[in-house]
Amino acid sequence: MTSTERPSEHAIAAAEAHSAHNYHPLPVVVASAEGAWMTDVEGRRYLDLLAGYSALNFGHHNRRLIDAAKAQLERVTLTSRAFHHDRFAAFCAELAELCGMETVLPMNTGAEAIETAIKTARKWGYRVKGVPDGRARIIVADNNFHGRTTTIISFSTDPEARADHGPYTPGFDIVPYGDLAAMEAALDAGPEGTVAVLLEPIQGEAGVLVPPPGYLAGVRELTRARGVLFIADEIQSGLGRTGKTFACEHEGVVPDVYVLGKALGGGVVPVSAVVSSAEVLGVHRPGEHGSTFGGNPLACAVALEVIAMLRTGEFQGRAAELGEHLHRELAHMAGGGAVEAVRGRGLWAGVDIEPSRGTGRQISERLMDRRVLVKDTHGSTIRIAPPLVIGKEDLDWGLDQLRAVLAE
Ligand SMILES: *Cc1c(COP(=O)(O)O)cnc(C)c1O
Repeated sequence: MTSTERPSEHAIAAAEAHSAHNYHPLPVVVASAEGAWMTDVEGRRYLDLLAGYSALNFGHHNRRLIDAAKAQLERVTLTSRAFHHDRFAAFCAELAELCGMETVLPMNTGAEAIETAIKTARKWGYRVKGVPDGRARIIVADNNFHGRTTTIISFSTDPEARADHGPYTPGFDIVPYGDLAAMEAALDAGPEGTVAVLLEPIQGEAGVLVPPPGYLAGVRELTRARGVLFIADEIQSGLGRTGKTFACEHEGVVPDVYVLGKALGGGVVPVSAVVSSAEVLGVHRPGEHGSTFGGNPLACAVALEVIAMLRTGEFQGRAAELGEHLHRELAHMAGGGAVEAVRGRGLWAGVDIEPSRGTGRQISERLMDRRVLVKDTHGSTIRIAPPLVIGKEDLDWGLDQLRAVLAE
């Protein structure tokens, strides 16, 4: 470190020199965090309005989750699935119950769980539905975000995610998100080979896009009538964020398959899962799919605590109540001209800034100067998704900073 360099500048320069540049982080170097607040290496405190893309729904350093992790660290952390361990059955049983489903297949990251859902749907198609070999087809939506593996980016419509990663995995058809007629047409274009529809109930990375009322319920009816699996990617929308345990619940929809991740690991460890019926997940036989770390004792111990916390309904309630407040405040801002549009549900909002006020990145940097951390997406959109434990006064303070930045 040179004498004029501050600790954060030094850390950022070192990271630039020795890491792949597949991210463009805001220039803040976090050293510790508690609840909705993070502290950087120079002791400055920041309000976290991103919550690790909803991985931190229960806040940083959540006492219950840290205690559960510490207790498990002292017992056993990894067995691999070659052996049973004493937290596995409870984790699967309680997660299945939370979802109103029968069977759980645990993985680690969201992308792995999506891959698992794709493999499951294809195998279900061949073994149960009788789809001719190699013909399984999955319908997805444009502007989707389901992860970063080669297969998943094969059906992305985002050139940044997709370019230069081919050849791409075939077997996916893309329809416009929120367009029920287009979905029906796609389903009827090839019903004999279609095994699944894979959708985010709210598209997070696309800018927190909420589909028109009736869309999810319509997709549910169309898929049910045709014997096609409805796979809901609730990795970001699920586990309390929208004011309910699952975003699908807002339309009274129960999909055939839930894909969960992010908050399931409580911001402590990566935990993901595919949750479905015994018929659907029953297609897997020993040796046909797996993961060394999937369903490990530490992951199960933390996720069990997450499930217990969701069982209380407290976090869904906070998200609903504070979310209503958030959207009321943002609607006021939208009346003022600096904000073009606001979307979202619960404690989750996509805010389109009027482009002359700056790009989403510039707005994020100016908010950072005022000690509020958000993340931009797609041009002039920022998203707001604080930990569900945030206090109302803190949320209001954060919104005051946004108002001040937009007034500059
Ligand atoms: C984050 C996310 C994923 C991918 O999860 P990773 O853990 O980053 O692999 C998939 N789907 C949605 C909707 C997500 O938000």
